[in-house]
Amino acid sequence: MGSSVEERARALADEFRGRFGREPEVVVRAPGRVELIGGHTDYNEGFVMPAAIDRDVLMAGAVAQGDTVRVWSVNFGEMSEILLTDIRRVEEASWSNYIRGVLDQFHRAGRVTPPMELVVEGNIPLGSGLSSSAALEVATACLILKLTDGDMDGREMALLCQRAENEFVGVNCGIMDQFISVLGQAGKTMFLDCRTLDHQFANLPRGTRIVVADSKKPRTLAGSEYNVRRAQCEEAVSILRKHINGIRALRDVSVEDLERHGGKLPDVVRKRARHVVHENERVLQALRALNAGDETEFGNLLNQSHASARDLYEISCDEMNWLQEAAVSVPGCLGSRLMGGGFGGCTVSVVRDEAVDEFRAVVSERYARQTGIEPEISVLNASDGAGQVF
Ligand code: ADP
Ligand code: MG
Repeated sequence: MGSSVEERARALADEFRGRFGREPEVVVRAPGRVELIGGHTDYNEGFVMPAAIDRDVLMAGAVAQGDTVRVWSVNFGEMSEILLTDIRRVEEASWSNYIRGVLDQFHRAGRVTPPMELVVEGNIPLGSGLSSSAALEVATACLILKLTDGDMDGREMALLCQRAENEFVGVNCGIMDQFISVLGQAGKTMFLDCRTLDHQFANLPRGTRIVVADSKKPRTLAGSEYNVRRAQCEEAVSILRKHINGIRALRDVSVEDLERHGGKLPDVVRKRARHVVHENERVLQALRALNAGDETEFGNLLNQSHASARDLYEISCDEMNWLQEAAVSVPGCLGSRLMGGGFGGCTVSVVRDEAVDEFRAVVSERYARQTGIEPEISVLNASDGAGQVF
């Protein structure tokens, strides 16, 4: 913590020298991300607003001899050997599956990768919803391209990494995480259309930081409830399709459509649909608010997103509500919401620089009093997407 990317990259080069007895040819970085607004809109082919963060995965590498990729993980203190002629999923050193999946996808795309020696290190907390997995995939893809003088469009690269996670690792994630890790821009958030992949950037409010508070609550319900929500969204579409022409996903349903035809949906399904339809609208409004410099409106939309996730999509829990309520009690907090799947994980807040210390103190103290758990609070900046460090 506290050390710059350059310092960490030099330390990683030292580690590489120690492991492999020579210099790395390149060091790359790929960032994690926050989802500022747009909860559960991705699989409804809707809009999301992520930002890349200044927490990342660094990877050092060089082309080697033979037919294997040897990769040392600093975080796990483990070496994994990947046979390029027979890339398989492994149970031990399961962190290497993300790297294996990317190698596999390069091969499937007809780009055979050379044998390599790699060292990887990251400072994104693993498994807390800041998408360390996407950062690891994108770092791998970025490193392969640098080592082979390869060229790939950012969008292709993101899609390749998503396929690695979907098909090889076996996690049914959307495109947002990889897309923002490749294409993020410092100081900005991205508006992304998950159907078309059209995207644009907007400046985050000047003089603010992105603050993530980890509830440390195990997300035991998250997997099963996620599947239930997806099925409910599909049910909504299959019913609404009989009344609204040409809709394929909730993305195609307007607020007015839902007002007119929502009565045809079972109560629970109607609530889920209302969340998604209005959340898509809020992401569009958030983009307009940022472009107009209206930070109050931007913050309000984050708070409304939280309320909708809590009351309509019903993916919140006491811990997330307590974190969000403590956050918005701090005058310099523009807005706050639960991030990601729900049922635990992290909240994301946008906080004025001068209020960050107070935010940290108030949220930690209140949450600890309510739960007996000290939340982990990370103060972040929107950063650039993946690239070469040296
Ligand atoms: P998230 O993406 O929200 O952080 P995931 O469960 O999708 O959570 O991915 C976390 C996994 O990604 C880790 O358990 C590990 O296998 C892999 N991973 C992420 N960062 C690193 C790293 N720096 N070194 C090795 N493996 C990593
Ligand atoms: Mg992940």
